[in-house]
Amino acid sequence: SVILAIESSCDETSVAICNNGKITANVIANQTIHENYGGVIPELASRVHQQNIVPVVQQALIDAKVTKKDINAVAFTRGPGLLGSLLVGVSFAKSFALALDLPLIAVNHMQAHILAHFIDEPKPSFPFLCLTVSGGHTQIVLVKDYFDMEIVGETLDDAAGEAFDKTAKILNLPYPGGPLIDKHAREGNPLAYKFPEPQIKGLDYSFSGFKTAILYFLRDQEKEDPDFIQKHLNDICASVQHSIVQILLNKLKKAAKQYGIKDIAIAGGVSANSGLRNSLAELAAELGWNVFIPAFEYCTDNAAMIAIAGYHKYLNKDFVGQDIAPAARMVF
Ligand code: ATP
Ligand code: MG
Ligand code: FE
Repeated sequence: SVILAIESSCDETSVAICNNGKITANVIANQTIHENYGGVIPELASRVHQQNIVPVVQQALIDAKVTKKDINAVAFTRGPGLLGSLLVGVSFAKSFALALDLPLIAVNHMQAHILAHFIDEPKPSFPFLCLTVSGGHTQIVLVKDYFDMEIVGETLDDAAGEAFDKTAKILNLPYPGGPLIDKHAREGNPLAYKFPEPQIKGLDYSFSGFKTAILYFLRDQEKEDPDFIQKHLNDICASVQHSIVQILLNKLKKAAKQYGIKDIAIAGGVSANSGLRNSLAELAAELGWNVFIPAFEYCTDNAAMIAIAGYHKYLNKDFVGQDIAPAARMVF
């Protein structure tokens, strides 16, 4: 089977092709226009998707060395995400499928982040726990099967990616700041400053108070030294990153213990973070975990994860009709 997959939930226009379970193309057009605004502007994102979608599809076909006639199904991100952005991908997928008389496959973006683990070896076996950390979500998911997933813990407010991005904004770094905090953190001392760990019960998270704590900390420091941020940027980034990673992993440890599961995966944009990847690897050695860390290109938004999810739905003949609409707040 040859599956063409489209991802347009936020600010990446991406098209991938999956040929019998193997990814043969994964084209990602990033939108740089949002850098100047300190966050994604939905109106602009949707407009840029419209400009990008056709050339990105064409490039994916070239990369995979296939033509439109070779395609057996069209998969697309139905949600969750920005409605205007989703609408571009969903409408394109529907027209493409209608024109070529192909089945349509609707994919949940958060499930796809997790299913990115089924692109390359080693693949996890069910059941496993996945910490999904992205720009809009922070979840601990019990993955029982490809499409049988249960959220056992999640953030009550901000996502981990937002904590990174909002801290970066306070530090005057451009959007999205997560990767830049990661870069500065490599040169800094993770124990230079301490930030309080939120006390949330069970397996849930909270990052809004954490962000405020950093804001007040910096405000106090800047009263004494107006150049505090410039002088100590690396140490601040290393300490913030260390604190976020500790918060994430402490609940993951608790979940692993509670469910008696040692197969542990991470997914989503923040799973590209070097501090999280290193600490998880250390924990694995310490606790005898079998950890799964995605390749960098499959951490942040990409259509390869939509394609692999689409492939498994194709095997189940799980198709949708032309009446399908995007769902901004879609749950599993
Ligand atoms: P969602 O998947 O919840 O709908 P999204 O699709 O916008 O949100 P992703 O593309 O999965 O999110 O991830 C983007 C987030 O990942 C941003 O918040 C970004 O700052 C963060 N991120 C990416 N790389 C890193 C990194 N190396 N360190 C920390 N954060 C990172
Ligand atoms: Mg993005
Ligand atoms: Fe995402």
